Amino acid sequence: MRREGTNPDDVQPEDVLCDFCHKAAWADDAPCVEGHHGSIICGGCLTLAFAALAQGGAGSSEPCTMCLEVRDEYAWHGTQTEAHICRRCIKQAAGALHKSTDWDWSKPK
Ligand SMILES: [Zn+2]
Ligand SMILES: [Zn+2]
Repeated sequence: MRREGTNPDDVQPEDVLCDFCHKAAWADDAPCVEGHHGSIICGGCLTLAFAALAQGGAGSSEPCTMCLEVRDEYAWHGTQTEAHICRRCIKQAAGALHKSTDWDWSKPK
């Protein structure tokens, strides 16, 4: 998501916020993955989501923030927000980070 008041013609790195913790996703070189409609999840949240996924949990009847689909499967909720990410998107995002960076998302930062 974008910070409120962001100039759409001049988006700065610090204007791009993680939908799940509302921290600047690009501020400290942390890897992040983009979804639909400018949604974004940072590496820190993805680490938490992936860990929670391994433990299992309830599904969600709300559409996934990243893919906008309502999926009857586990969804992880952000720490600060109502945003959530479905199981499929967690796995896809984790796979994308794995390929594009040497980010060790198995260790929370
Ligand atoms: Zn985050
Ligand atoms: Zn999804």
